[in-house]
Amino acid sequence: MPTGLYIGGEWLEARGEGFETRDPATGQVIRDVGAASAPDVDDAVAAARRALSGREWAALLPVQRAALLFRLAELIEQHHEELAALETRDQGQPIQISRNVSVTGAAEHFRYFAGWVTKMQGATNPVSYPDTLHYTRREPIGVNALVTPWNFPLMILAWKLAPALATGNTVVIKPSEVTPLTALRLVELTEEAGFPPGVVNLVNGDGTVGAMLSEHNGVDHLSYTGSTAVGKLITRASAESNLKRLTLELGGKAPSVIAADADIDAAVRGNLAGSTLNSGQVCAAYTRFYVDRKREQEFVEKLAAGLRELRLGPGIDERSQLGPLVSERHRGHVQRLVDTGREQGAELVTGGAPGDGVGYFYQPTLFAGVTDEMTVMREEIFGPVLATTSYEDTDELDAVLDRANDTEYGLAATVWTRDIKTAHRFCEGIRAGSVFVNMPPIPDMAAPWGGAKASGWGREMGPWALDAYTELKSVWMHYGY
Ligand code: NAD
Repeated sequence: MPTGLYIGGEWLEARGEGFETRDPATGQVIRDVGAASAPDVDDAVAAARRALSGREWAALLPVQRAALLFRLAELIEQHHEELAALETRDQGQPIQISRNVSVTGAAEHFRYFAGWVTKMQGATNPVSYPDTLHYTRREPIGVNALVTPWNFPLMILAWKLAPALATGNTVVIKPSEVTPLTALRLVELTEEAGFPPGVVNLVNGDGTVGAMLSEHNGVDHLSYTGSTAVGKLITRASAESNLKRLTLELGGKAPSVIAADADIDAAVRGNLAGSTLNSGQVCAAYTRFYVDRKREQEFVEKLAAGLRELRLGPGIDERSQLGPLVSERHRGHVQRLVDTGREQGAELVTGGAPGDGVGYFYQPTLFAGVTDEMTVMREEIFGPVLATTSYEDTDELDAVLDRANDTEYGLAATVWTRDIKTAHRFCEGIRAGSVFVNMPPIPDMAAPWGGAKASGWGREMGPWALDAYTELKSVWMHYGY
């Protein structure tokens, strides 16, 4: 597999300083990857610009463009096991997650957006001007930089690449430097699928390469998934360059409210799934639990028992339910926040230390008796670390809502109840991009995904993603003389 740059349909040697990618289950280097220099980034953006208006791409009929996306979905399925194993090796996630969430999710995304290519519509509009036809055209936004994180490298790239290509754009991909491998393989598959040269380009490197793209005047739209801190830097870079459009999918700290009438066993199962998937390295993971005082002890005991039962091990081992954290550095970040929780007086019920083995394993961890001000209740940890607190009574739902809303984030939230009034009041009152009643947080290509408040701008998935990758042109045609 090439590990350099892919620009204008060719694999090239990168001119920046390369880096290593490691297997988080063993700490071993998997391979060296070439990082882009500033001239490499310029070349990639220029290739994407040329391809945008090139006949090979711009003149394709919608059915032909759709066929390329369908073909890419097929190729992902044909290489399903290879891609799943590569994702597990580079990212650490259990192989079943790689298979059933990451690779399947990526293939479905391309197929879903392939379907949209022949169904996107404009509109004619009743303007108040005599003898005039007004209609709207959806046009590709242009050159798109796709800057992605390390938690679901292949799937999150698909969330961006599929709608970008479906709408006739060209792209420059910049995967996370921590997990670059499945993006490289996916780009090879776009070549095999027959996308014309320059439509898909890829540069590797760390945040400095991401910053080159966010500052670049040749980029029309940057779609970014990652931390809120970097999201703010990108916003500034956009403002100081060409005001490129931004789609930002940022951090989260999802609250989970467990009402007195909840089915506690179902709540424990659903919240375990919702908080420990991919070792908690999920932006929508449930992390702070507000439990009705009457059910608190039962919930905490059962949740702790469920966490203790999880099998920690290398993702490639079919029996592992929890893989390692993505890097040693990230494990250090998780440990520091757990130490802060202890120092601030939270009760450590289980976990709190690295797992056994040479890899970057971390024990599933539960804090109880946490107060709203404690760091573990406020900061995104992005690991298998859960914090519980309690509230007095369901009548206090408004007070719980205030506490759940007292955060800069607003990505996801959940409530566990059998009372339809509680469910609806929670869904109305919570400020979050997605709210889940009695279920874990799942993205789906047919439902909008994105954040309120500092969790981001814009929405991915479904027809909403088409807005992010198109400009709406207003056409006025006078036929009165
Ligand atoms: P990160 O912000 O460190 O990195 C993400 C990407 O941004 C990487 O490709 C990185 O190289 C690049 N980058 C770093 N500095 C940059 C800069 N100055 N300019 C441009 N690009 C730069 O994030 P991460 O640690 O890879 O991912 C974890 C974060 O992502 C968490 O905060 C998580 O909540 C968030 N996330 C959000 C969603 C969502 O849908 N909202 C999904 C997954 C992850």
